[in-house]
Amino acid sequence: MTRRLTVVGASLAGLRAVESAREHGFDGEIVLIGDEMHAPYDRPTLSKAFLTSGEDPVEYRSLAQIREDLGVRLLLGRRATGLDAGESVVRTDQGDVGYDTLIVATGASPRRLPFGHDLAGVHTLRTRADADLLRSALVPGSRLVVIGGGFIGSELASSARERAVDVTIVEGAPVPLVRAVGAELGRVFSDLHARNGVPLLCDAAVAGVRGVAGRVCAVDLADGRSLPADVVVVGIGAVPATDWLKGSGIALAPDGGVLCDERLATSLPDVYAAGDVVSWPNALLAGGVTPTTRLENWTSASDQGRRAAVNALFPEDAEPFVTVPYFWSDWYGSRIQFVGTADAEEVSFVFGDHDSDRFAALFRSGDRLVGAATLNEPRKVMKYRRHIALGGSWIDALALISDPAVSSSPAS
Ligand code: FAD
Ligand code: NAP
Repeated sequence: MTRRLTVVGASLAGLRAVESAREHGFDGEIVLIGDEMHAPYDRPTLSKAFLTSGEDPVEYRSLAQIREDLGVRLLLGRRATGLDAGESVVRTDQGDVGYDTLIVATGASPRRLPFGHDLAGVHTLRTRADADLLRSALVPGSRLVVIGGGFIGSELASSARERAVDVTIVEGAPVPLVRAVGAELGRVFSDLHARNGVPLLCDAAVAGVRGVAGRVCAVDLADGRSLPADVVVVGIGAVPATDWLKGSGIALAPDGGVLCDERLATSLPDVYAAGDVVSWPNALLAGGVTPTTRLENWTSASDQGRRAAVNALFPEDAEPFVTVPYFWSDWYGSRIQFVGTADAEEVSFVFGDHDSDRFAALFRSGDRLVGAATLNEPRKVMKYRRHIALGGSWIDALALISDPAVSSSPAS
């Protein structure tokens, strides 16, 4: 049996990996390395309740529980800087850490604009430290420009509105969230901004972020418009955190993620990966040749962490990681949920419609259900997730709605 499991990245996927290792009877040494100073915490809260109510993010386990209950050597505030797979060593800014089995769980970092980030008042949001800074900046009456109308931008706009901050969203694409939910639902969800008094400027290229005396004062658009700003948040996507792996020989996918096989094994011996950093072939949603995909959602990171540990430590129990992708997002008191893929031939509303406060919309490819989007219908979406996982037909999916257990579910 492997003697030392080392995990780099002490957040959701990393924690789930060490929990799963112990649950499955691994009794060797575990080292968990993370560059943040906190016990692994609930990141989704950072753009939501943390900004509105000041509620601290839940820690999944306390430092003491991780150390004592799980028997993990926690190395926090420590950054991995390199990987020498020949020597089975992770280089860190505070010395080397060896491994017999390694799990890479370093997540993703905010994509940055080529300008503006040196100005005070320009933020990105990924960590507790980022959120602390942002929370103090969002004072009632201040003017916030959010660049990017994706998940960060939309959740943040909603939270800032609740704090009586004057918000404008600038989005580069004609419709936001197309990759996540498709053009039709992207349009429907982004209408929530207008309904809540937040201007969303689409097809708008940001030409510059202007400052006075080192502090941001405006966002300039390529069409000549200028948006006054006291605070700017750049939410234009995330890139896999793989800088520290440069020179290690590990294979990366075209999208920059750590390239894994279906069991979450990387190209290097005894090195596995889990979470936002992973690109892997998700067999469930593909027909024929399976392309690699990278998910950036909570459920997948958690499930991958568990599976990567079992596959890495107990090869006899190894299984492919397959999932029907799932995420939720909370805007203006409404809950958006999505399962599966938006890569579809047809979208059909089976409950409510584009303008409803509650709806369910289904995505068809061939004769199969491949995706479902809901607004304020928390129980429906999980039925559809199960249906997709079982390869359920489109016809049967349309009929699911007549099930009283489905249609009677209350809004969240
Ligand atoms: P991360 O949570 O990014 O953790 C990676 C960890 O590794 C971090 O602590 C990082 O600092 C550390 N690290 C990186 N590089 C190094 C290094 N070189 N050395 C040491 N440590 C390193 N998903 C949903 O489904 N629903 C939501 O509502 C939702 N809301 C979100 C809100 C926000 C503000 C954000 C940022 C994300 C949200 N997500 C949501 C996405 C979800 O949080 C992520 O998918 C999940 O956190 C990924 O987990 P992970 O462990 O793979 O990566
Ligand atoms: P995102 O969801 O990918 O959205 C970024 C948006 O910004 C996209 O619509 C993108 O358009 C647009 N954009 C890109 N460059 C731009 C530019 N220069 N000017 C204006 N708009 C631009 O990424 P995000 O919102 O930044 O979120 C970052 C990470 O946090 C992701 O991993 C996300 O999954 C995670 N997160 C998830 C949730 C959730 O699931 N509820 C909530 C918050 C954060 P293109 O697509 O055309 O590039």
